[in-house]
Amino acid sequence: MESPIIDTEEYRDSIATVNKDGKRNWIYPKKVNGKFFKWRTYVSWLLLAFLFGMPFVKYDGQPLFLFNLLQRDFIIFGAHFAPQDFYLFVLAMLTFIVFIILFTVVFGRVFCGWVCPQTIFMEMVYRKIEYWIEGDANAQRRLNAAPWTTEKVIKKVGKQAIFFVIAILVANTFLAWIIGVDEVIKLATEPIAENWQGFTAMIAFSFAFYFVFAWMREQVCIAICPYGRLQSVLLDSNSIVVHYDHVRGEPRGKIKKQQGKPALAMASAESSMFELPVVNAQKTQGDCVDCGLCVKVCPTGIDIRNGTQLECINCTACMDACDEVMVKVNRDTGLIRYDSFNGIEQGRKRILTPRVMAYSFLLVLLIGVQIFFMSIRSDVQVLILRTPGILYQEVDDQTLSNLYNYQVINKTNKPMPIEFRLVTNYGQIKLVGDAPTVPKASMAEGALFIELPKNQLDDRKNRIKVAIYSEGKLLTEVKTSFLGPIK
Ligand code: SF4
Ligand code: SF4
Repeated sequence: MESPIIDTEEYRDSIATVNKDGKRNWIYPKKVNGKFFKWRTYVSWLLLAFLFGMPFVKYDGQPLFLFNLLQRDFIIFGAHFAPQDFYLFVLAMLTFIVFIILFTVVFGRVFCGWVCPQTIFMEMVYRKIEYWIEGDANAQRRLNAAPWTTEKVIKKVGKQAIFFVIAILVANTFLAWIIGVDEVIKLATEPIAENWQGFTAMIAFSFAFYFVFAWMREQVCIAICPYGRLQSVLLDSNSIVVHYDHVRGEPRGKIKKQQGKPALAMASAESSMFELPVVNAQKTQGDCVDCGLCVKVCPTGIDIRNGTQLECINCTACMDACDEVMVKVNRDTGLIRYDSFNGIEQGRKRILTPRVMAYSFLLVLLIGVQIFFMSIRSDVQVLILRTPGILYQEVDDQTLSNLYNYQVINKTNKPMPIEFRLVTNYGQIKLVGDAPTVPKASMAEGALFIELPKNQLDDRKNRIKVAIYSEGKLLTEVKTSFLGPIK
């Protein structure tokens, strides 16, 4: 009789967060502890301090960083980038994307587990509050299944209220990165009618963050985040990701209790966060004792033993869980570890693949282009164009004049008084109105006449240069044309 074919890829037909009826399977990840979690906690403190603290840091009276996408107004390390510098921003975004691609090809989704704000807030803020109020995974399950008592109402309402307060805080912080902390304080202190648009944005952001962390959770990483979707095309068998060592772990099996022999792990099981299903030191064929703890701690509900999956956010929870189990059963840690598929199968890691080298080349090229454009970027941008539709005017027998429109963009955070000078030792510039002072991070426009002696004109169209000074210092020179009679 033929043996039945076992579909080992069956796990790919469904996702852990959806049941057979198509309804949401709520994930209750078990609390985790361990060296990776500890380091992730430290990193999260640093990143949270940066996120919440940086909008308050000012340099020369303006934020150190500002990303006002709506007005295309950016401040990076105190340097102001006007809409005219948008190409630099686009270039920086391209460089960042290539860097992320390169990083992902080499190290997989490590960004998601360690740095992504979604993971940081979910696992290091919201989840910890949930554990604090409702207890570990099983306690949460019990509470959800229990009838509505006063205690349950207090816990549930209290938790949601705290969640919402944090969402408001997060929303305000994100707004501060976009419009600046001073504007956010105005929003919070001035009458709503005066700032109803900003206030509406703040409320909308708050509800969005609350919805994401209280309800959407891992769905963002599994189904919405475009970066997560890209993993399937970026990862290859040399990418270093959270991997289960199937060579060492399989065939998995629960360890049997040995008659008359005390279990190795018993001594520590009481004080531990984990309890092994069957605790004994008897060696199974593979090192995996099939305890299932790597699945129980997983915030996306997957079984990493099935191999690399799109849902894995590389949060390292399963690594910590498995390491603790391995210590208890007196086996080497690292059954689940950072490694590549080839590293596990062949015992060798290969980082410098042709693909990695190609991305590295592109990245170096983009960084070079970015540095070049940054180095030639000036604090002021000037345009002087002849007023359309107007020919030259005769000032007297010897002199002609042309009318021009000018535009001066000040990219600094200080007002800039402007002076125009001709780069010739003949002719003069006459401004229409007063000499402009361009406000900080702003633009000034106006008109001016350039007068030149007729005998200095070579042709109908003559190239001339105008120098732009501020407080006696040459800022830049611009070329324009001067129209005269046909010779
Ligand atoms: S935690 Fe480790 S030993 Fe337990 S099932 Fe997962 S891989 Fe196997
Ligand atoms: S498989 Fe492991 S690393 Fe991946 S999401 Fe689950 S717990 Fe985190």
